[in-house]
Amino acid sequence: MKNIKKLELSENYSVFSPADGQEVGNYPLMDRAAVDEAVQRARERFPFWADVPMTERRKILRKVASVLSENADYYAEIIARETGKTKLDALLADIYSTLDLLKYYSKKANKLLKPVRASGNPLLPGRKLYYRFEPKGVVGIIAPWNYPFTLLAGPAISALTAGNTVVLKPSSQTTESGLIFQEIMEKAGLPQGVIQVITGNGSVTGQALVENHDLDMIFFTGSTQVGKDINVQAAKRLIPTMMELGGKDVSIVTRNANLDRAAHGTLWGGITNSGQTCIGTELILVDRAVYDAFLTKIVPLAKNLKSGREAGQVGSMTMRSQFRIVEEQLKDALEKGASVLVGGKVDRDQKGLYFPPTILVDTTPDMLVRKEETFGPLLPVIPYDSLEEAVRMANQSEYGLSGSVFTTDMDEGRWVANRLKTGSVNINDVLVTYAYPSLPFGGVKKSGIGSYHGEIGLRAFTNVKSVTEFGWNLKRELFWYPVPEGGDKVAASLLAALFSGNPLRRLTSAVRAGIQVIQIAWSRRKQ
Ligand code: NAD
Repeated sequence: MKNIKKLELSENYSVFSPADGQEVGNYPLMDRAAVDEAVQRARERFPFWADVPMTERRKILRKVASVLSENADYYAEIIARETGKTKLDALLADIYSTLDLLKYYSKKANKLLKPVRASGNPLLPGRKLYYRFEPKGVVGIIAPWNYPFTLLAGPAISALTAGNTVVLKPSSQTTESGLIFQEIMEKAGLPQGVIQVITGNGSVTGQALVENHDLDMIFFTGSTQVGKDINVQAAKRLIPTMMELGGKDVSIVTRNANLDRAAHGTLWGGITNSGQTCIGTELILVDRAVYDAFLTKIVPLAKNLKSGREAGQVGSMTMRSQFRIVEEQLKDALEKGASVLVGGKVDRDQKGLYFPPTILVDTTPDMLVRKEETFGPLLPVIPYDSLEEAVRMANQSEYGLSGSVFTTDMDEGRWVANRLKTGSVNINDVLVTYAYPSLPFGGVKKSGIGSYHGEIGLRAFTNVKSVTEFGWNLKRELFWYPVPEGGDKVAASLLAALFSGNPLRRLTSAVRAGIQVIQIAWSRRKQ
């Protein structure tokens, strides 16, 4: 907070809880000058932070985990207030997953970022080869509102662990999550200025960050459209980006599925966090042979779900604009012939953005709910006739974030998993990829570029530098100037000795090359 007050500010904005309309906070809407100042400060702090030994960085990660876990209830309350989600959703998805990532990197970062030895080349003997991972510099992180804490903490922790400084813009609706993250990091000993949270909306503050010329990387989580625009702008300045974008994830329930698990799993995957989960189930495809049986399992489960402030099972949606999209998709589906089996009626007397968990059947591919990201608790169940058809339907989507398959036949599960064009797949599970910090997390097609988490995800915040070391005290190399007489013949012998498919030819060429090299060395002895 201290950093923010120092910066030049133009105006303020208020955030209200979507659950009860109460004001959560009032924040400065940072303009370009304020954003540029934050980036400049991050640039100044970068050499210092890049030089802090990994043991110190890991100590801070452990301390952050302590502060966060000891005050988890307090922080979950704040996250729940600004998003409208239940406290359980905040504790499990936002706080637990962040703690797990902190623990993983505090244990593994040293090993994951250690220089890696590489194999040599017989034409260039005597060298030690390795590549090192060096921080990129100043990383700009832009985060969404649906898991407002973990989706900014995840990339920020990765970037900081790798030695970068960070300028972080939370979604304006969930500004407080960004500010508490900075507060926790600094309480745990992260020096001031190493991470700075900038507050404001996308069009002013976010845009100013993207247009800043002194960023070394942009990490963006949000909608595909905004991600595309940011990527175009970054490409013009050759700034690398990582993009975590939208999805239309499919759960496939085969005729061999444990239908109880499939019903519980897909319902959780579709409805948790009020359906506002990027890797949430958006369509349930069920083998026609078990379609009716599946419906008899999922319908009563969905009917028993209670949304509303008192019920505490399904929270409020966060954004009115998203609520309208879900309403619009439901209306469109009903107009085109779909039927509602559960839910579908918004209780207008209820305060807050509570959309009832809704199960739809008889949908067709031309409906919005089948084509576009829903990002709300509206779940179509669709029968299919063959697994090939199910996979084809799943892969028709322009998105490729995640997906799942329910089956007791693991070969069948793997068959499907290997064919889905997505960044991750769960067999007999939903949403769990994000819960394993050791697994890379990211999407393909219009769901994103690159992955974070795990070894790949930590190294993604670094530049790779290849190094060769030569310690023999030689005056020059065989082929350096002046080129030796008959150098071409030696080169030909060496190539045959190394790569010929004929073992006898390799042997005779090696002997010839040895003699030629000795002759050159002898002739050069006085040069
Ligand atoms: P959004 O794209 O509207 O906003 C995301 C962030 O970008 C916000 O901080 C916003 O202020 C900022 N922003 C908006 N316009 C900007 C601009 N012109 N320049 C710079 N920044 C700008 O997305 P959202 O509504 O916050 O989030 C929902 C979307 O995010 C969904 O599509 C969802 O699928 C996706 N999402 C993806 C993942 C993933 O890991 N793949 C995770 C969560 C959410």
